[in-house]
Amino acid sequence: MDFALTEEQQMFQELFRDFAQNEVAPLADAIDREERPPLETLQKAAEMEFMGLPFPEEYGGAGIGVIAYCLLVEELAKVCLATACCLGIHTSSGAMVISLSGTEKQKTKYLVPLAKGERMGAFCLTEPGAGSDMAQIQTTAVREDGQYVLNGTKIYVANGDIAEVFTVFAKTDPEAATNGITGFIVEKDYPGFKVGRTERTMGIRGCSIAQLFFDDCRVPRQNVLGGEEEGLGKGAEAALQTQDFSRLSMAATCLGAAEGAMEASVRFAKDREQFGVPLAKKQAISSMIADMATEIEALRYLVYRTAWAVEQGEGYTSLAAMCKLFGSEVACKVANKAVQLHGGAGYIRDLPIERMYRDARVTRILEGTSELQRFVIASEIFRQEDLELEL
Ligand SMILES: Cc1cc2nc3c(=O)[nH]c(=O)nc-3n(C[C@H](O)[C@H](O)[C@H](O)COP(=O)(O)OP(=O)(O)OC[C@H]3O[C@@H](n4cnc5c(N)ncnc54)[C@H](O)[C@@H]3O)c2cc1C
Repeated sequence: MDFALTEEQQMFQELFRDFAQNEVAPLADAIDREERPPLETLQKAAEMEFMGLPFPEEYGGAGIGVIAYCLLVEELAKVCLATACCLGIHTSSGAMVISLSGTEKQKTKYLVPLAKGERMGAFCLTEPGAGSDMAQIQTTAVREDGQYVLNGTKIYVANGDIAEVFTVFAKTDPEAATNGITGFIVEKDYPGFKVGRTERTMGIRGCSIAQLFFDDCRVPRQNVLGGEEEGLGKGAEAALQTQDFSRLSMAATCLGAAEGAMEASVRFAKDREQFGVPLAKKQAISSMIADMATEIEALRYLVYRTAWAVEQGEGYTSLAAMCKLFGSEVACKVANKAVQLHGGAGYIRDLPIERMYRDARVTRILEGTSELQRFVIASEIFRQEDLELEL
């Protein structure tokens, strides 16, 4: 058993840390205040080849592995959860779904520019009537004159207003539940496709979420995810497989967010004096730091262990759900403690703590709620006991 990062991974970690400190941190407050995506940072990340780290070089990626990818989003999230989400959701959902389920032609045409960061990708599943229960999606796709005609509405699509390649899940068989779902790759300029409003959110305000409208949107049949022969009715499988990876990505993001809040808390506890001594000398305060550190360390091993399982080609559905569940709990708990430890300074907007607290909350919802993660974990356990659980 080896718990150490390789020399190469440590080198990448340094590189990602420098990027986060020098390029991401200076903009974190502005993108939150102005509620705008960090386009300039994403451009620089693309130049550094950071937008497609886990994908093979032949598909435009850096091919440096899943652990290295987790180290990247961890470092970004330490200083800005919104930027980590913009980049992380692009890579782990928008590009990953095509990497996992696309045909060779689709990978060449779409994954390559996504992995290089030349175009942004988005993953479009949620609808007004279908969130946790994807079987309820109402968007339809009907074959007509050798094309598919899509009609429906998607909501809460991360990067929806800046993406150019959208993987959209629609019912090709409205009578069937999840077996009637098919994925389609939709380009921004296809007729009948329109980006609606972006939502005003509690946190990660630099990572926009948009409504998307499909009004007789015509999609070439070559854009059925996985090909027309193989891909029809396989959309739910593709979405679930992608979500395993995006949950790991979100857990690594949670790890970074918790570390960022703890680092700020340690600095504050050292610098701020009350009753003639630094706050850190008060046991109630140092205990908070001890609890933060313990949970962060437990999360670190769960995240790296899961990333390692992916690299080994092991099944990791349950591990990814555990990572995401535990990660979001840790990120929220640590951010909450960090506000408390900072006192009034944690509640006003001059310090990043207030933003970190607002930002952390989304991690219990995004990429599947905590309730859904518990269902996934328990289902795997009871499946081994020949008992199927129902949502
Ligand atoms: C910032 C942000 C970014 C997002 N990005 C994307 C994106 O890029 N693409 C995309 O497709 N979606 C995206 N989403 C949507 C997100 O995946 C959904 O919000 C999430 O899956 C929950 O769905 P819902 O909001 O409809 O809640 P609901 O499913 O309506 O759930 C409401 C509550 O009920 C609980 N619940 C539901 N069913 C059960 C059950 N059977 N048993 C117990 N409890 C249950 C849930 O856990 C939750 O607490 C994003 C959301 C946010 C907030």
